[in-house]
Amino acid sequence: MSLHETVSAERLHIGFFGLRNAGKSSLVNAVTGQQLAVVSDVKGTTTDPVRKAMELLPLGPVVIIDTPGLDDEGELGAQRVKKARQVLAQTDVAVLVADARAGLGAQEQELLALFKEKQLPYLVAYNKADLLAERGALEGEALYVSAKTGEGVPQLKERLGALAQGQGQPKHIAADLLPPGGLAALVIPIDESAPKGRLILPQQLVMRDLLDAGLAFAACQPEELPALLKGLSQPPALVITDSQAFGRVARDVPASVPLTSFSILMARYKGGLQALVQGAAKLKGLQTGDRVLISEGCTHHRQCKDIGTVKLPGWIEGFCGAKPQFTFTSGGDFPEDLSLYSLIVHCGGCMLNEKEMRHRMARAAEAGVPMVNYGIAIAQMHGILWRSLAPFPGMQGML
Ligand code: SF4
Repeated sequence: MSLHETVSAERLHIGFFGLRNAGKSSLVNAVTGQQLAVVSDVKGTTTDPVRKAMELLPLGPVVIIDTPGLDDEGELGAQRVKKARQVLAQTDVAVLVADARAGLGAQEQELLALFKEKQLPYLVAYNKADLLAERGALEGEALYVSAKTGEGVPQLKERLGALAQGQGQPKHIAADLLPPGGLAALVIPIDESAPKGRLILPQQLVMRDLLDAGLAFAACQPEELPALLKGLSQPPALVITDSQAFGRVARDVPASVPLTSFSILMARYKGGLQALVQGAAKLKGLQTGDRVLISEGCTHHRQCKDIGTVKLPGWIEGFCGAKPQFTFTSGGDFPEDLSLYSLIVHCGGCMLNEKEMRHRMARAAEAGVPMVNYGIAIAQMHGILWRSLAPFPGMQGML
């Protein structure tokens, strides 16, 4: 991935939902101008959500998600419905595709109620309008389209563009913490867990944000930090380090210089830093037999390597002096019943969009289960959380 690309988690996610054979996949193909989804006349052809990152004018960079039919039957059908609902958690703007000849049935109304409950901007696209003998007037966020003839497709895109305004607004991950002209020092260990030849997403996002804001940064590995600090004519305005090097970096950076970690910045960027800091308080009180869920947002573990499966369980046992039971999940898997757990320890979620991350946090809150992320948990267990929160006004009072 290059710095020029808009990473998937940063793109506007547009989900297409509807019943089997409403022509969802054909409409997705018509909107994107590509054969994104498999189309057939057989009901329920889309078995898994199909995602594609693309530039879609006039919207810009988006991820289009074509979901399985919500009315699927049987065991396989139930799985599909579950997947479609999972997609809803990541969706910024939803399109409900309905067969114009049938109108909206109970399941579609249910879906609309869900959109409203989640305050999700949406459109209803009445597809197959070319087959209608007569057309009634439509109200609100609805329009007639035909994937077959292309009628209404440009209007659908324009209206999606209008709905998307205000969603996924650019915001800062780090630049707002620096004064004008301030310099940031970035500490990035290049060890066996660093991906070959590139930087991981939080590091890319921070660099890009600082560059966009016209701010300078100097980057080094932990070993080089003392020399870097010595060589600067004045101390950096902020030091940002990888969580795993925090202890060493905290010793090298004078107490007067604000210091935080990439994962804490990422938690703030994705929303919910406060709740995650509250979740950190639970670590100390864990008892033998308490269930702890360790959840990672992607299945390729190269970037996070054995942190979740090996290091964190060891640190947690040492910190609480007990033997909790650990459960591990990764990728799209996030347990249905969270109430079984005493604590959820989640990765930084760099591969999950903000919506999905917020959804997971909301589910934890609904189930009354505290949640903390890797970076904050590591900082807490190494006694440095107070320092890494210092750059965020109001946060330290929570510790
Ligand atoms: S999504 Fe989570 S596990 Fe995957 S690379 Fe990002 S922080 Fe690591």
